[in-house]
Amino acid sequence: MKTLGLIFPDQLSKKNPIFDSTKRDIQVLFFEPLDIYFDQNHHKQKLAFLFSSLRHFIKELNLKNADHVPITKGQKNGMTDLLSDYIRLNNYEVLEVVHPSDHKTLTQLTLLTSKLGIALKVHDDPKFISSAYEFKNWAEGKKSLVQEFFYRWLRKKHNILIEDEKPVGGEWNFDSKNRVSINKLKEDPPERERIKPDALSVDVMVDVENVFGNNFGDLENFNWSVTREDAEKKANEFFNSLINNFGPFQDAMDVGNPTLFHSLLSPYINVGLLDPMKIIVAAEKKYYEGAPLNSVEGFIRQILGWREFIRGIYWLKMPDYKSLNFFENTRKLPELFWTGETRMQCVAKAVESTKELGYSHHIHRLMVTGNFALLSEIDPRYVCEWYLGVYLDAHEWVELPNTLGMALFADGGIVGTKPYAASGAYINRMSNYCKTCHYNVKETTSNDACPFNYLYWNFLNNQRKKLENNPRMKLVYRNLNKKDDEFIRAVNLNSEDFFTRIKKGSD
Ligand SMILES: Cc1cc2nc3c(=O)[nH]c(=O)nc-3n(C[C@H](O)[C@H](O)[C@H](O)COP(=O)(O)OP(=O)(O)OC[C@H]3O[C@@H](n4cnc5c(N)ncnc54)[C@H](O)[C@@H]3O)c2cc1C
Ligand code: SF4
Repeated sequence: MKTLGLIFPDQLSKKNPIFDSTKRDIQVLFFEPLDIYFDQNHHKQKLAFLFSSLRHFIKELNLKNADHVPITKGQKNGMTDLLSDYIRLNNYEVLEVVHPSDHKTLTQLTLLTSKLGIALKVHDDPKFISSAYEFKNWAEGKKSLVQEFFYRWLRKKHNILIEDEKPVGGEWNFDSKNRVSINKLKEDPPERERIKPDALSVDVMVDVENVFGNNFGDLENFNWSVTREDAEKKANEFFNSLINNFGPFQDAMDVGNPTLFHSLLSPYINVGLLDPMKIIVAAEKKYYEGAPLNSVEGFIRQILGWREFIRGIYWLKMPDYKSLNFFENTRKLPELFWTGETRMQCVAKAVESTKELGYSHHIHRLMVTGNFALLSEIDPRYVCEWYLGVYLDAHEWVELPNTLGMALFADGGIVGTKPYAASGAYINRMSNYCKTCHYNVKETTSNDACPFNYLYWNFLNNQRKKLENNPRMKLVYRNLNKKDDEFIRAVNLNSEDFFTRIKKGSD
């Protein structure tokens, strides 16, 4: 059967079964212009990273039977037409592909092959440890899906940090040791080595400027690996000089350092340049060489637990998941998400690093921008579009359950058991932002009060019907019930005034 094997920019794993297929003498097509890259505003660095990694991979493989469709101007909504022409012209009878990482592309390929009357063969994605099928089986019959239990199940299955069939250190999870404030940090994190873009990357940047010139971000600060070898160097840098402090300062935020001790490995794992199991095994090895267990277990849990769980939820719940809006929010995304122009220091800094690096760490995403979007009652569609666009590691399978589910609770409790809503006190505890902020984190009703404070109480009051019976919200509502009418009126007035200000772009 005459077969075409497709490779997309986030399918660069060496274990990609299409390359085994090359032994069967099939034609390989490296394909860049997916509709999803044209559908919305993606950070220029993200696009440059994806296309440059793909083109370096093509060079590395140096296949005989391979073709490449690069991005060019005016390809919006063109994937189906381009592929259709290519398949017809060459009379392919089978299209083979690794499971696309988003629902839209999978649907497009299914429809295309059915229209052309050819077979579609979809392989499991080797950049995950567990398959969507395995997750479905695990989830079957469970009333609620809890990440921690899936994580323990995978740890046992793959024998990670297990001794004598028990978790190393006697506990499954050491998160209680991983909440140290930035104010306890004694020495600055070590400098990370810069990566100089090579000629091929520079060519890609020119293409990105040509095709996506008006997109968010700029390419000047591009500092990402685009080859397997360089991505591995970044992993070694993390294991050699950052992992020991990763655990304790995992939730901390620093006004001058947006990356602290985080690994910055998600972009590479999510396109297949790094293999998640190899990274986990390397982390486990560090534990046996003396790295603290809370750091190692915390890091492994993010990849083996959260990453696999989130991906399972996406395929289990799509396509309906994308339109969930538990709080029925309708507000638009304020412009400050794109400009970073706001007097709220924490938000300004989170957007600044997002713009500069295409990166911010988990707590910025969850407790600063995510928490702010939740408390500001913004329509989840707009928030998800922003998160999908601005981060280098963002692909719908991982962005959507994290944003819609974890940060916004718009799925009503599928990913999390309660909203991650928090006042300014949380940000003040974990960061040094508030010390130099225009707003006063200790105030809630005064003119200079921290917006997170009044928005928090306003949100709880507005969402009482939907949240007060949630067992994990009982204490919070008991506190709200102690507040008098004057307080409720003041937080409501402050919030409405704030919403008007940010709509005008005058915060
Ligand atoms: C609102 C929101 C949106 C997010 N969007 C994305 C996204 O588009 N793409 C993405 O990869 N992650 C996303 N995350 C998860 C997490 O924030 C990033 O994986 C992490 O910040 C990447 O930085 P790092 O590599 O330095 O991670 P580290 O803190 O060093 O963590 C190690 C690794 O664990 C994995 N990981 C950690 N948390 C998660 C998680 N919740 N879900 C999946 N994997 C996780 C990543 O592979 C990461 O590289 C999102 C989180 C939130 C709250
Ligand atoms: S005072 Fe409020 S707005 Fe300012 S940095 Fe602190 S939490 Fe953010």
